[in-house]
Amino acid sequence: MLNTIRPEIPKRAQGCIQCQELFKPGHQVASWLYQNEEGIFLRDDLCIQCVVKSEYKEKEETLIHWKAKVACVKIKKPSSKSIQQEELAYELFHEERLKEAPDSKQKTFILSLFLARKKRLFPRGEKNREKGLSYYEDAQTGELIEVPLFQVQLIPIEEIKRELALAISHRMQTLKNEECKESAAVS
Ligand SMILES: [Zn+2]
Repeated sequence: MLNTIRPEIPKRAQGCIQCQELFKPGHQVASWLYQNEEGIFLRDDLCIQCVVKSEYKEKEETLIHWKAKVACVKIKKPSSKSIQQEELAYELFHEERLKEAPDSKQKTFILSLFLARKKRLFPRGEKNREKGLSYYEDAQTGELIEVPLFQVQLIPIEEIKRELALAISHRMQTLKNEECKESAAVS
């Protein structure tokens, strides 16, 4: 049965599910993501100490497993043009990934590659079931995101990049216009 509503992947827990210690920046966390028969995602996050003590039994239906450090979130100020572009690409990524259109899936994929290069997303694993999927952790929110995988040779990559660049420059223009209006209102 197909769900029309996409099941959400749970965010990292506040603390270790075993010893309850709260996760803080710099802590090592081991995570397991499961998906049950109804497509619901289940997630277990444990501190490394508990994993070492092997008090955790991995379930059979593991989708992906990864270890990560809780990131120290530095939010860059959108001062330079390239940082502003990166910020808008990040915004666009989160909009496109929620859409169902095939070209949105391709855009999500292209944006994920860009944002991974910029260390805004961390790759956490891939899964090839009926379709290719990769999993990224959002550096800012710790959210785990499912991204469709494509073979770059099989999609019109230049065309998609052009469309994305256009969408981003439109947004930059809108931002600039708003800034102008604001400063005009002040003066
Ligand atoms: Zn623990």
